[in-house]
Amino acid sequence: MNKLEALLRYHEAELALDRLESRVKTSPERQKLNKLYGFLSEQQTQINGIRAQLELRNANVTKLASHFEELQKQYELELSEIAIMENDEQCTAAEMAESRRALEALLEQITAERRDLYDTLSWIENATNDYKETYARAGKAKKEYDELRAQCDDLLKAAQPEIDAAKAVVDSAKKDVDEELLKKYTFVKSHHAVPIAKVENNQCSGCNMSLPTAVVKRVSSGLELVECENCGRILYT
Ligand SMILES: [Zn+2]
Repeated sequence: MNKLEALLRYHEAELALDRLESRVKTSPERQKLNKLYGFLSEQQTQINGIRAQLELRNANVTKLASHFEELQKQYELELSEIAIMENDEQCTAAEMAESRRALEALLEQITAERRDLYDTLSWIENATNDYKETYARAGKAKKEYDELRAQCDDLLKAAQPEIDAAKAVVDSAKKDVDEELLKKYTFVKSHHAVPIAKVENNQCSGCNMSLPTAVVKRVSSGLELVECENCGRILYT
């Protein structure tokens, strides 16, 4: 077995292993699992977003409610002051009017804040419902995900002996490959999924570039390592 034959044998073994592994990685179950994972992440982001908003609004409610209470106290105070002024003969009409205007402004503020408080509370109610629905949906998806995950693990377990056997073939074939050649192969593989290309019709089957006759001859001789000048793949016939 010459150097190139050993490399080809190793290459074939690698391809067989790749095929086995990609069969597991691209199974319908695995694809569905990946999709569900994306959905779950999305739901989690949504849940976190709603939760953060709820916390903010809840804090706001506490603030609004305590301010609202203050305004009401102030209103009652103004009311009782007006009652006193009404019985005070020294109080002028202008002072009275001023106090009434202040009371009206206060009342307007109270109405606006009550509306704010009401709006925030109803927002919280809606968001809480949203939160519950999203949470339930995510919980259902998580259950489905766990079941699917178990199925995928089973599939992998079932395929494992075959994968291990293919790995053993790769390892044993690798031992026969010349060290320099292996380095070269590994380097080309980092650029091309299939680093070896057959010469067909005087062309590199990797990139379809026409090869000079001299190059084809060198490849045919099998005596040396020849790379495609265009794509760098290792050529064989
Ligand atoms: Zn090429």
